[in-house]
Amino acid sequence: MLVSGGTVVDVDGRRSASVRIDRAGQVEAVAGDLHLEEGEVLHDASGCFVIPGGVDVHTHLHLPVGALRVSDDFWTGTRAAAVGGTTTIIDYATAYRGEDPLESFRRWKRWAQPSAIDWALHMTFTEAIPDRVLAECIDEGVTSFKLYMAYPELLAVDDEVILDVMRRASARGGLVTVHCENGDAIEELRRRAVEAGRTAAIEHARTRPSPLEAEAVARVANMAERAECTAYVVHCSSGAALAEVRAAQERGVDVRAETCPQYLHLDVALLEGPEAPDFVCTPPLREQRDRDELWEGLARGWIHTVATDHCPFWSDDRRRGIRNRPDGFRDFTEIPGGLPGIETRLALVWEGVTAGILSVEDWVRLCSEAPSRTFGLWPTKGSLRPGADADLVVWDPEREQSLAADELSMRVDHSPYEGRRERGWPRLVLSRGRSVAVEGHFVGERGAGRYVPRRTVEPEPVV
Ligand code: MN
Repeated sequence: MLVSGGTVVDVDGRRSASVRIDRAGQVEAVAGDLHLEEGEVLHDASGCFVIPGGVDVHTHLHLPVGALRVSDDFWTGTRAAAVGGTTTIIDYATAYRGEDPLESFRRWKRWAQPSAIDWALHMTFTEAIPDRVLAECIDEGVTSFKLYMAYPELLAVDDEVILDVMRRASARGGLVTVHCENGDAIEELRRRAVEAGRTAAIEHARTRPSPLEAEAVARVANMAERAECTAYVVHCSSGAALAEVRAAQERGVDVRAETCPQYLHLDVALLEGPEAPDFVCTPPLREQRDRDELWEGLARGWIHTVATDHCPFWSDDRRRGIRNRPDGFRDFTEIPGGLPGIETRLALVWEGVTAGILSVEDWVRLCSEAPSRTFGLWPTKGSLRPGADADLVVWDPEREQSLAADELSMRVDHSPYEGRRERGWPRLVLSRGRSVAVEGHFVGERGAGRYVPRRTVEPEPVV
């Protein structure tokens, strides 16, 4: 197969070139002077950018949440990912307290079998774990471990466990990803709000203010410094939190930050609107000045990756709440948190390119290369160098796409971006050399995705 006539953008820069893909589904050559050979299929990429497929390192598919389940499973979610230009995901497997982490890992692997694109797993720990478990995870290709500082009743671990897991992970070439919010303080704010009768969706944001995110980021950076561990801050949502990321980076701590499209585009005022339950996510949506600072952080390299935290729920489920009450949730603490986004990430970050904030190279680095490198997928994923998997997107900067729910492929009945039209969408998406999306339509196969065991982590920061 030859993808010809486009502008290739990857780790080696931007140039007019063709990409030759071999029968094994790997990149064979990238050069300006490749000509169609006998029996070879030609894909015309004229007017388009040819980039490595997107790598989304923060998704929640098939996930049970209270009495509910997210609306996308691994089949429907990865199908939508492919349509939007993402060809690899890393989903979060969770070992709840008292569970055997390796058993949780195997359960998530079973759930993920129908995936249409390649996939990997992070492992979330909710209590102290023996060293043996970390070694076994790494043997299975799981090299990143998530810890929560929020949700004390179900997920959070204390600082002693965070520091301990950081030391053990670092010693084995792994890294730690952390949900940074001061969970205990937030619990107090939530309890007081409910007791005072402040029960509306906007209280979700008021009880999770950005200083409590920033404080947790600073604490994680301090612990990462002690443990000499790479710490990856998931879903950095605020200017205050970003300032703490920068402060740590400037003194040489390897803290990397992820943000998500919802924090780049959506305002907290949506939590006071008519569809407020559809906009609950954690951390909550913030304000314009936060978005300005996050975009600057992307352009300046302080933020390392954009992932989605894709975690969709049906509108009715949101209104019944995590206790699934037929008469509706009693207060904001029962609204399931999370937004759909696995399909729309590349397009929503591309807006930064059309706005003149990011270069095309920045966009590729943030959405594909950096997440691949950080999480041990490099150079198989996130690269178009010879020998890499031919996960490739032909990105048409003129193609228009509505972000209304009924014009997207995600299995969910509302869109956070209803009414918005994008200019910039994939013309063609390949997964290991096979077409998975053409002109906005899924053409791949259920179960064609493979589990990708990950390598241990590069010691040096990428940016
Ligand atoms: Mn998440």
